[in-house]
Amino acid sequence: MNNRKNEARIERMQQRLEAGSVAKRFPDVAEIVINMTYNQRGIKAILRTFNFFPGSYAFFRVDCLSKDCVDGGFDLTQVITTMIRNRRAEAKGELSCEGNDPSANPSAIVYEVAIQYT
Ligand SMILES: [Zn+2]
Repeated sequence: MNNRKNEARIERMQQRLEAGSVAKRFPDVAEIVINMTYNQRGIKAILRTFNFFPGSYAFFRVDCLSKDCVDGGFDLTQVITTMIRNRRAEAKGELSCEGNDPSANPSAIVYEVAIQYT
């Protein structure tokens, strides 16, 4: 179990490196802010904020916080690339965890993305 989780983490680090920088992939983006509320039954909602700058990796997948969840996470890549393509400044939505949580207590997020363009 722990091994599996470690492997998943290493894989994500690799994916992040391969994603390249925001400046390279999206040269007209000045800043991306992701605000999300992480919800899971039995715990208090957790607010999380992520900031991306031109020097950041263009990797928009956020890990699931459930300790039993393997390969879990929330991938905002699609949301963000679509926003940039349409030069949208704001988007809101919900995502469910992609992982397999053996506790049968899947988590979900409510997100708000704000993008500033150069
Ligand atoms: Zn999960």
